[in-house]
Amino acid sequence: MDTEGNILMEKYELGRLLGQGTFAKVYYARNMSTGQSVAIKVIDKDKASRTGLLNQIKREISIMKLVRHPNIIHLHEVMATKSKIYFALEYAKGGELFAKVAKGRLKEQTAHKYFHQLISAVDFCHSRGVYHRDLKPENILLDENENLKVSDFGLSALAESKRQDGLLHTTCGTPAYVAPEVITMNGYDGDKADVWSCGVILFVLLAGYLPFQDSNLFEMYRKIGKSEFKFPHWFQPDVRKLLLRILDPNPVSRITMPKIKENSWFRKGKLSKEPSLDRSSGPSTTSTDHAENQDSMKPPNMNAFDIISLSPGFDLTALFLDPREKKEARFTIWQPASVILSKLEDLGKRLRMKVSKREAGLLKLEAIEEGRKGILSIDAEIFELTQSFHLVEVKKCNGDTLEYQNVIEHLRPGLQDIAWDEQIQREHQEVLPRQDK
Ligand code: AMP
Repeated sequence: MDTEGNILMEKYELGRLLGQGTFAKVYYARNMSTGQSVAIKVIDKDKASRTGLLNQIKREISIMKLVRHPNIIHLHEVMATKSKIYFALEYAKGGELFAKVAKGRLKEQTAHKYFHQLISAVDFCHSRGVYHRDLKPENILLDENENLKVSDFGLSALAESKRQDGLLHTTCGTPAYVAPEVITMNGYDGDKADVWSCGVILFVLLAGYLPFQDSNLFEMYRKIGKSEFKFPHWFQPDVRKLLLRILDPNPVSRITMPKIKENSWFRKGKLSKEPSLDRSSGPSTTSTDHAENQDSMKPPNMNAFDIISLSPGFDLTALFLDPREKKEARFTIWQPASVILSKLEDLGKRLRMKVSKREAGLLKLEAIEEGRKGILSIDAEIFELTQSFHLVEVKKCNGDTLEYQNVIEHLRPGLQDIAWDEQIQREHQEVLPRQDK
């Protein structure tokens, strides 16, 4: 490894080998300045370029910035030397989920919690146009608080290629989690294939064994193709019903992600508590989080792969910034505060959000139903610039950024008769002082 002793980039102290794939080795490491534990995935550039993987790495790095979720292993940063690419990943201390299942099936409540977290992660990625396509035991890890973490989401194409050159078959040897339409290789929808794999995973959690299993590989393919499996007697009717809808061999009629979320077993009395969402929305010590708030660090218009391959060691943090992830929107409005407040109240209600007035000039908008990252909560604060000229700052306090952006997109036209956005304001800059006088 291109490291000084067991120190990588003067930043990470490398420890034991956690696991090994065809192209990568994963090591435990510790950030020497923050003490934070990470997992360092080391990819051999030569090996990767010989097998045409480097282009995929480039593509996948750029999509990984889109998938930040409490149930997805977070990519802190990417570093490179002449011969290696290093991914510094969130460390999942609890190891593989299936090491747990290997000891026996899980209680329904525990399986329900993990399934919730899995669906939350997968659905979130789908909403960003990212499909895993290779959800399987090795990709499902647990953190120290027993929360599920899907790994390699952004790097799913790597697994794809492994399959194409046959290596995955020889190392793994089982298509147990793969949807029938993926096996027949007739082209498939990533979201439908991921739904199937989630179903197989749910079955395994509750049963302690695979739904489709046979020592003869062709027989196994046949069973998957026909979705031929039996429920153990302890499976409750509501979960049986859900699994039959997920393990539908026809991808067209298979249950969709939104329908899974509406399913009665899935919603059942909130059997399990959602994982803490604070980590993704609150401040954290990771380099990307830190950089996210700095306007001066906008993503350079560079190709991630160019940087990786050309630089001897480069912090690609800035590539993970997405200008769309801005947490505030500002509007300047020529109206008294009371008019703005009632307009915001009206717009909030039209968006079917709970609207409550807090201290002077502060309005809270809260979604009635839980979103992808918990309840969407937005603060709208009004600042007086002059008596009839106000600045309204709209800020996300909790919830999913995409859902927040949708609200902003609705607020914007709703306010447009009285609000000017920043650009329009700039165009009117000369007019403003004169009107104030
Ligand atoms: P992979 O090449 O991603 O399949 O990783 C190989 C193995 O390394 C996995 O099966 C895990 O046991 C381990 N591993 C990978 N990523 C992490 C991580 N972020 N935290 C802890 N262990 C990991």
